[in-house]
Formats: sequence, C-alpha cells, structure tokens
Amino acid sequence: MSQNETLFARAQRVIPGGVNSPVRAFRAVGGTPRFITRGEGAHIVDADGKRYIDYIGSWGPMILGHGHPAVLEAVQKAALDGFSFGAPTEREVELAEEILGLVPSCEQIRLVSSGTEATMSAIRLARGATQRSKFIKFEGCYHGHTDALLVKAGSGLATFGHPTSAGVPEATAQHTIVLEYNNVAQLDEAFALHGPELACVIVEPIAGNMNFVRASVPFMTRLRELCRRHGALLVLDEVMTGFRVGLRSAQGLYADLIPGFVPDISVFGKVIGGGMPLAAFGASREIMRHLAPLGGVYQAGTLSGNPVATACGLATLREIRKPGFFDALSAKTRRLVDGLKRVADENGVPFSVDSEGGMFGFFLMSELPQNYTTVMTTDKERFNRFFHAMLDAGVYLAPALYEAGFVSAAHTDADIDATLEAARQALR
Ligand code: PMP
Repeated sequence: MSQNETLFARAQRVIPGGVNSPVRAFRAVGGTPRFITRGEGAHIVDADGKRYIDYIGSWGPMILGHGHPAVLEAVQKAALDGFSFGAPTEREVELAEEILGLVPSCEQIRLVSSGTEATMSAIRLARGATQRSKFIKFEGCYHGHTDALLVKAGSGLATFGHPTSAGVPEATAQHTIVLEYNNVAQLDEAFALHGPELACVIVEPIAGNMNFVRASVPFMTRLRELCRRHGALLVLDEVMTGFRVGLRSAQGLYADLIPGFVPDISVFGKVIGGGMPLAAFGASREIMRHLAPLGGVYQAGTLSGNPVATACGLATLREIRKPGFFDALSAKTRRLVDGLKRVADENGVPFSVDSEGGMFGFFLMSELPQNYTTVMTTDKERFNRFFHAMLDAGVYLAPALYEAGFVSAAHTDADIDATLEAARQALR
C-alpha cells in the first residue's frame, strides 16, 4: 500500500470518511485522496513524496503560493508574541483598515474565523437590520454550511446529491427562497410575491461552487434594482472572489459594468486570511451599527481577529496590492485557460473556459453554462478520467467538476507549460 492509502485507511477509522471537509474525499472522482506533507510555492508534495502543481491552493486562500517569505516572517513573528488573547489587538484594526481601504462599499467590517461564520452573520445582520425573515439564494451557490443556507447549495453537496442536508429542520429552511442563477424572470416573480418580506438576497457574483459561472450583467443589474426598490439588502458573498479576481474584488468588476452598483453587505474569507482561519463581513456604518455591542444583532467569537491569522492576512494583502500584481496573475491564468482550450480544440474535445484574476473554470462542453442545471449536464465520466490523468501527471486540479480552480503568483510559465503538456496527453 502507498503511504496515501495507508493514511486514508487510518483516517477513515477515526474521522468520518477520512476527511474533515467532504470534497477532500475524492468521492466524486474516485480513488485515494492525497495526504499532503508540505507546500512550496506553486507545488505540493504528498505522503508518497510525489510532487504536484497545485491549482487548488487550499480552495482559494493561497494566492501567493505556499510559504511566501514575507507571509512566513509575519506569521512567525506574530506567533512569538502570543497565539490568542481574547482581547483587542492593533493588528485587527490594521487589517480592518487595509480591507476597507480596498472596498469602498464597506465602512466597517467585523472579523470572524470562517466563511461559514461570516455568511451566517451577514444573514442575521440583514434580518436584524430590516426586521424581515425571508431571503433569496441561488441554486448552485454555496455560502457555507449554516442551516438556512444549506438549500440547493453547490460544492461538496452537489456530489452527494443532497438538495438540502439531513439535520436541517424544515422550519429553518422555510424562509430560504431558492431561485435559478442568472434567471431574471424568476427574480421578478419572487420579488413580486415576497418583496416586502425579503431581508436580503445573497449571491456569489462569480459562482465558484458550480465551477465558474458569472452573474450576467442584466441579472446583477436587475438584482440591484429590485433589492433597492423593495428595501431588501444585497449581500455579495465574496468569500471566494474577494481579492482573488482583482484587488477591488468582484464588486469592483461589476461597478465598472453597472453604473451605481454597490452591495449592501460584503462577505470575505479565503485570501484575506492567506491560509489561516479568517473571514469577515462588512457594510455601511448604518447597517453595521445593528451588531452587538452597539445593536441588537448578536455575533461573537473566541478566536475572532486572531493575532496570528490577522498577521498572515495582512502580509498577504500587502503583497497583492503591490502595483502590477493582478495584471501578472491575470495574464498567467489566461495563459493557462487559453492553453487548455487550444489543447482541447486540437483533440476535438468540446471545451469552454473562463477566468478572472487568479480564478478560473473549464467545462467539458462547448459553451459556458449559465446556471447549475447546465453545469450538471457535464460528462462526469470524462471529467473524472481527465482529472485522474492530470493527477498521475502531477497536476492537482479540484477533484470535482463543479469547483473553480486557482492560480497563484508562484506559478511559473514552466508550471503552466507542464500543465498544458499533461492536458495534451490526457485529452488525447
Ligand atoms: N462562501 C463561499 C462563496 C465559499 O466558496 C465558501 C467556501 N468554499 C464559503 C462561503 C464557506 O467558507 P468556509 O469554508 O471558510 O466556511
């Protein structure tokens, strides 16, 4: 048995499914998950000593690659001063200032420890601020695993085919309205029916939990209009897209396309922690004043604003806001996706690609899908064969067809060329 197999067998005895987050288990693609021993730049090494070019990057956070020297130094220094105090620290203020400096839609921000916690708190805040209960989410968008949000979510849930998780009472989900992504007519209908009862609409601006599906401009325009007209808050879940698709995040892209576009509440995670447990939600002062200790919406956390995590996040954000960072990252990502498309065309394989900043998606179909139903028409067998051929060749892609991919600043042209060569062999 390989070390990976031995470890997986051991893990399955003590951890359900052998993993601490379902999609790691390779259920969708079959085979043995790789147990990772270390990361170096754009590469990771598994328990059998095999090296891979990493296009998961911890599912988004590792935008600088693994072990970036400035980040390592900041984390080591912070750790020497203490892991956690449960009292305010200057670094939390610095990180809040750093994020707010890059996100004009937010005047205040609160730090938490995971994306799940951040979206859960954002929904509670929206409900508390509007004094309404219902909210809209979209099929295929994943916003973490709180009860009310586990309705037709994408990501790991898509593999297991649970439209709603077991253990979520009907009563908890009854205020969650699920609509099709990019469907303007359904939006109109839902607001006509429920407008005055809607606390908010939560949306991934680029849905990375059904691979890579952009919210269309007409859809986002209408969504913004309807929320404003009915007094519902627009919650942009930028846990994945935040500081990943560009320095101004996805809201910056949509602000360029839609005059006056601005979310009411923004949620961040992943990149802002640089690989440490850290996430955040922010809004105008007017909305944030509803949060405890100022207002009646309760929200708290023993490890919120953790000193080591904030050091990691700050060091990461300071690197990515250096001039030219996102131009270089975007060019690299485009080189990858354009190359994949070329290789697929050479082999007559139906293929479509899209990317923004350091986030990308590819589909084994000739046109980019616009919603979850279409994403799920992908030839899964073919995807799985491609995934395993790439893995054998040392390219670590997401082990499911509905997950986005990530390129880091540490990926070199040589890494991308090696990836394209592996894809050429695989698609043949
Ligand atoms: N929102 C989005 C858009 C996400 O992609 C994720 C996680 N992939 C979450 C929320 C939940 O974040 P976490 O896994 O940190 O709880």
